[in-house]
Amino acid sequence: MPNVLDRSQSIAPSLKPGKDLAQPQPSDADPLRIGGLTRLTSIDYPGELAAVVFCQGCPWRCRYCQNGDLLDDDSGGGISWSEVRGFLEHRVGLLDGVVFSGGEPTAQRALAAAMREARSLGYKIGLHTGGAYPQRLSQLLPLLDWVGLDIKALPEDYPSVTGVPGSGEQAWESLRLLLAAGIPLEVRTTLMPGWTPDLVGELAKTLADAGVSNYCLQACDRDHTLDPRLAAGQPARTGLTAQVRPEWFSSLSSRGTWL
Ligand code: SF4
Repeated sequence: MPNVLDRSQSIAPSLKPGKDLAQPQPSDADPLRIGGLTRLTSIDYPGELAAVVFCQGCPWRCRYCQNGDLLDDDSGGGISWSEVRGFLEHRVGLLDGVVFSGGEPTAQRALAAAMREARSLGYKIGLHTGGAYPQRLSQLLPLLDWVGLDIKALPEDYPSVTGVPGSGEQAWESLRLLLAAGIPLEVRTTLMPGWTPDLVGELAKTLADAGVSNYCLQACDRDHTLDPRLAAGQPARTGLTAQVRPEWFSSLSSRGTWL
């Protein structure tokens, strides 16, 4: 899932609820709760020009979350799927893909119908997910062209990040499903303040051994975290990533502002 940093780097402003978009026929995707829409981005779907649909709701409360306004199931101020669909209908041929992000998109049962509608318009489908619902993810696999999956920690360390017991097992099961399906995948890890080089190295090696080939290490934006106590920490990039070997991955990248 992109954080505030990702959205601020998008090359077009986000669409707010409006009255000037077409109102198509009702569909199974209409219940999808959407907190926002980025109309054009070149950074949220590798190699593609895309729109990003920010789905409302997430079962986790990661300490470094940048999207606090998307965590509740219903913010009350979102955009309807019919508005998004109308927008997408008018951008056919101008955009390559649609990324469903959040929040946690797979928290909503209407996601599959929305993906099918976007595919029917000719768009490639991207998904940003933390992997909180592996069973639902397994049903979405035939609809996905690319996935950005957050792996936040080793399974046993997840509750210290998400605040939710068992969240690590869910995320790592989602990783297993995506690797088995062979869907183009970027795995991302946000480096928590206070982590050690040993911990980061062990996590990266475990991911490489699991079959992850495209890995991105993300800086923690300590100015906009759900847990304000994170602002007191200061991770050092060179120290934290010193034990991550580039040769473990086909692609190893970093994202964000390193302090
Ligand atoms: S998974 Fe964590 S970082 Fe992502 S939206 Fe949910 S709480 Fe925020």
